[in-house]
Amino acid sequence: MAYIIFLYVWAFINTTDLEGQKLDISYWYNRAGTLASSQFPLIAALGTKNNLVTLVTGISYDRLNYVHRMMARVVVILLWVHAGSEVVYYAEFKGDLAQSWLRCGLVAIIALTLLCFVSLRPVRANAYEFFFYTHFAMVLIFLVTAYFHTNYQSLGYWIWPSFVFWALDRFIRVCRLIVFNHSYFGFRSGSTMDATTELLDDNNVRLRLHRPSHFHWSPGQTAYLIMPSVSKLPFEAHPFTIASFDSNLFDSVEEAPVTEKGEKRKSLAEHALGKSTPFWKEVVFFVGVQEGFTKRLKDVALKGGKVKVFIDGPYGPSPDLGSFDTSIFIAGGSGISYTLPNFLDVIEKVRDGKSICRRVVFVWSIRENDHLYWIDDTLIKAIQLAPPHLAVDIRIHVTGARTTVAPLEQAYGDDDTESIHSDSRSEIAEHEYNEVVDKSKDSILAMSAVRVENGRPNLDGILKEEVGMATGRMSVSVCGSQAVARATRNALRFPVSGPTSVLSGGPSVTLHIESFGYA
Ligand SMILES: Cc1cc2nc3c(=O)[nH]c(=O)nc-3n(C[C@H](O)[C@H](O)[C@H](O)COP(=O)(O)OP(=O)(O)OC[C@H]3O[C@@H](n4cnc5c(N)ncnc54)[C@H](O)[C@@H]3O)c2cc1C
Repeated sequence: MAYIIFLYVWAFINTTDLEGQKLDISYWYNRAGTLASSQFPLIAALGTKNNLVTLVTGISYDRLNYVHRMMARVVVILLWVHAGSEVVYYAEFKGDLAQSWLRCGLVAIIALTLLCFVSLRPVRANAYEFFFYTHFAMVLIFLVTAYFHTNYQSLGYWIWPSFVFWALDRFIRVCRLIVFNHSYFGFRSGSTMDATTELLDDNNVRLRLHRPSHFHWSPGQTAYLIMPSVSKLPFEAHPFTIASFDSNLFDSVEEAPVTEKGEKRKSLAEHALGKSTPFWKEVVFFVGVQEGFTKRLKDVALKGGKVKVFIDGPYGPSPDLGSFDTSIFIAGGSGISYTLPNFLDVIEKVRDGKSICRRVVFVWSIRENDHLYWIDDTLIKAIQLAPPHLAVDIRIHVTGARTTVAPLEQAYGDDDTESIHSDSRSEIAEHEYNEVVDKSKDSILAMSAVRVENGRPNLDGILKEEVGMATGRMSVSVCGSQAVARATRNALRFPVSGPTSVLSGGPSVTLHIESFGYA
């Protein structure tokens, strides 16, 4: 708001030119144009993923994207003031229309205006690809024509830095792509970045790949996945939250995974973490199937295939929950991509003495009871690893009909180079497989820290109960549908959390909501 007021006051109030002539309209509208042009380096920088502002302030690129859009909308109004006044007051306007600098100016303002409309939330949310490509084309047209227009007045230096910031961002992204995915680029032989795809059910695919060396992330962060064999365009990148946790647990002997005979040896981590190892040591994504890229990925997963993935990231903020006495995680479906790594992080931090957390609650709503087996081994291991002074409460809510979709074996298979499709299992193997599944079912359901209930969670009741019990600081992290986010907000409304609750000894509550989108 301060920015808008400052810019408009600066642009509109003074009409006296530098020679002291009062009400100099051409000076006034040209200054509006110059002021608008001067904003473009910052607008461009704030629209990129790797920018100086994020580097200096630590504010993530997706938060800065709001500022990027707001600034562009403020500036387009200034540009219309500049252009409109020129049409009305510039005596040689018609004559100069034949000149390229004026034509460039007109094309620039039309391109930027279209861009502002195309960037409105409904368009971004409902036609992302249309928005994406139109944005790219309009920015290019705008910057090229704006450069020629402003350079006529020797002001091109306000425009060309935008190209530099854009190119710098692309350069950094290409460098990261090469560093994280170097096995594809021939710098090292022997390792592969191919991801295993697993169709969990009709609407969800799990993607799992070895952690590229140098690739580290914090819980809740996002990576852009580029899969040329799946996407329509070779460099199409889609953001997904990393569902696994970049853990240090049992790392000590992982450096020497090969025996003297050259056989692959199980690392200490694999021994200790068992089938849940991928969620602590690899890069795992839960992908909700939509209409485009994700639908094509589902087709690959149907065949149980592997797919080449280039990974760009990590991006986005990660909540630091180390200073909270109580942490509540609420997720719906694939929202566990956000809450699971944060939950595992709390447990590891408490083990390492880096967190004061005394109680952690993990609420997960799933449509079918079999979805529990997406992460059951990981939840079991998390409970086992939690130190005694950390109370763990896991509440699973099955909201749909009960069905029996068996979890796919390759999800946790020891031999991760082999992709096993359920159709290919023999009857004997099927029998053994079911036994394993039953055992695992028993063990998660038998744990006293786990409750499985039918129906939607009563978030209002759960949160009020937790607030009633807690003292100190409490964090509530949510990732799910709009309805889940709304229910959580409503449950925490005044007076449940707020100054009066804190003054009467209740916890101070911090809410984190992740919505899987910019919109
Ligand atoms: C920060 C962030 C984290 C995300 N994490 C996850 C996750 O962990 N699991 C998950 O299932 N989904 C996640 N998403 C959403 C996921 O990126 C989209 O569902 C996916 O890109 C849709 O691809 P599609 O071509 O099949 O979509 P379409 O069927 O073409 O469109 C479906 C929806 O996805 C949006 N969308 C399409 N392409 C993109 C894109 N390149 N970038 C952003 N949005 C897009 C569209 O606006 C539309 O609302 C996340 C999105 C963001 C922004």
